[in-house]
Amino acid sequence: MGIVDEDIVRVRESTDLVAVVSQHLQLKRVGQRWVGLCPFHAEKSPSFSVNAEQGLYYCFGCQAKGDAITFVREIEHLDFPGAVEWLANKAGITVRYTDTGENEGRKRRKRLLEAMGRAVDWYHDRLLSSPDAREARGYLRSRGFDGDKVRRYRLGWAPDDWDALARHLRVPDDVLRDTGLGFVNRRGRQQDAFRGRVLFPIFDVQDEPVAFGGRILPGHDGPKYKNSSESPLYAKSKVLYGLNWMKAGIVEADEAIVCEGYTDVIGFADAGLPRAVATCGTALTEEHFRTLKRYAHRVVLAFDADAAGQAAAERFYEWEKAYEIDVAVADLPSGVDPADLSRTDPAALAAAVEGATPFLGFRVRRALAAGSVDTPEGRARTAEAALAVIAEHPGELVRDQYVMEVADRCRLDPDQLRQRLSGVVRGEAAPVAAPLRAPSSADGRDRAEVEALRLAVHDPEAIGPLLDEVLFADELHAAVFRALAPGGTMHEVLERCDPRAAELLQRLVVEEPAGDADNVASLLTAAAARRALRRLDAENRRDFDADRSRRIAWLKLAIEQVDPDDPDQEARAQLLAWLAEEATVAEEIR
Ligand code: ZN
Repeated sequence: MGIVDEDIVRVRESTDLVAVVSQHLQLKRVGQRWVGLCPFHAEKSPSFSVNAEQGLYYCFGCQAKGDAITFVREIEHLDFPGAVEWLANKAGITVRYTDTGENEGRKRRKRLLEAMGRAVDWYHDRLLSSPDAREARGYLRSRGFDGDKVRRYRLGWAPDDWDALARHLRVPDDVLRDTGLGFVNRRGRQQDAFRGRVLFPIFDVQDEPVAFGGRILPGHDGPKYKNSSESPLYAKSKVLYGLNWMKAGIVEADEAIVCEGYTDVIGFADAGLPRAVATCGTALTEEHFRTLKRYAHRVVLAFDADAAGQAAAERFYEWEKAYEIDVAVADLPSGVDPADLSRTDPAALAAAVEGATPFLGFRVRRALAAGSVDTPEGRARTAEAALAVIAEHPGELVRDQYVMEVADRCRLDPDQLRQRLSGVVRGEAAPVAAPLRAPSSADGRDRAEVEALRLAVHDPEAIGPLLDEVLFADELHAAVFRALAPGGTMHEVLERCDPRAAELLQRLVVEEPAGDADNVASLLTAAAARRALRRLDAENRRDFDADRSRRIAWLKLAIEQVDPDDPDQEARAQLLAWLAEEATVAEEIR
């Protein structure tokens, strides 16, 4: 059952977020906000912040964020209506329900799961006993799958037929579609999604069947693997294959191995490492990571982490910091997958996990390998690149261990490197509220734009009239400004935002502005004017125009009058009006 919208708003408005949070952690008042140790990730210094007035929280460590309802959902493990009821109870509010909603959703899920369960059984029986599955059985035996293993992992066989499963299940079209088991074809007939494939049923952590991964037999046409598409039961970014069977082993070892294939998961278990899970045809996501964190403190990547690319690697690293999980990379021989190694040399597979390199070490070595060390300049550049990687690690002692490695490889003095490293670390740790200077760099510009948004959140009356969308060079910042401009409560503003803008806003809500509205507005106005000046100059070089030259001359003078340290408010207002006008004209021409 769903709760009436009005009542949700009423519950939200009568809830004191600080009081709710205080039942779980100690909050301390710092300026306008409240801070404490985050209940959602392990930490020693507080990065969990609450804005009492807006009723919103944000964690700078793990990016947990939301309102009282989100907080109660996460901390009490409740669903949305459950969390609203919990808060309503505290506030002495009786909520009203709509007829449809939650109950329907639960009933529907049950029906879908029931169909999935029957499909798993039917495919499994076909594999065990059907004559047309002989080739599949032979293939599986050749890959080391005996009857016990086939039964344990509920492997199945989808016959090479259009609608064999659909004819057996006899479920309505929408159930067939929403389970991903089949679809209605152009002639209006039910058709199976899988055909002529060995099937690995994918279960969620509660052991419910939610999807299938299907492997084609060698020598047959078609892609090697075909997976269920996303469905109401199945979100690829959340489900990890094998977690239902391996969670006990993961907890016991306090370690999860992440690999890429279903057979790898099973191979690890065969080799005496019953703690591997696989992503199902997708990259490892933050949600996967959040799930694993509940079971273990260490994750070993057993795939080519290098091939996942720099961006993926950096994400792992952030999650490693945010969730306090150690991430290591298994030392697998290149080109061999874990499933094969588990049969040919299980001891080598175990050793590869045992000898896994900490993720930081893996990255440092990669940075060192990527650079040249043939010339003094090359060595310096390579060392800089490696130091930048090291600087991201929060532990000073850990960082120092890798400095020696860089010194050796680049033949540089370790003390000099240490000095350089602490400079890099200090630079990175510069407080958000550092005094603002002329935003000559992109970085400075970004800081000024963010500070303007921070002021717009906390002191809209002071800075509102001084700002315009045209002042924001960064598209995300402009989007946040557009959402803020019409005003209203923070909830209304957040509802106008896309997810990235909402993310930034929720952080800004718990941060405190350090800048002065006048100063920030002047910085942004001057920066926007310089951008306009560069644009006009470029146009004039391409196609000279006397009128444009006059505008350039006026603009140069106007910029000089807008000094951030001693702003001439009238000149700035004039310049802002001119910029807004320019933007409107440019918009019209387009
Ligand atoms: Zn946190």
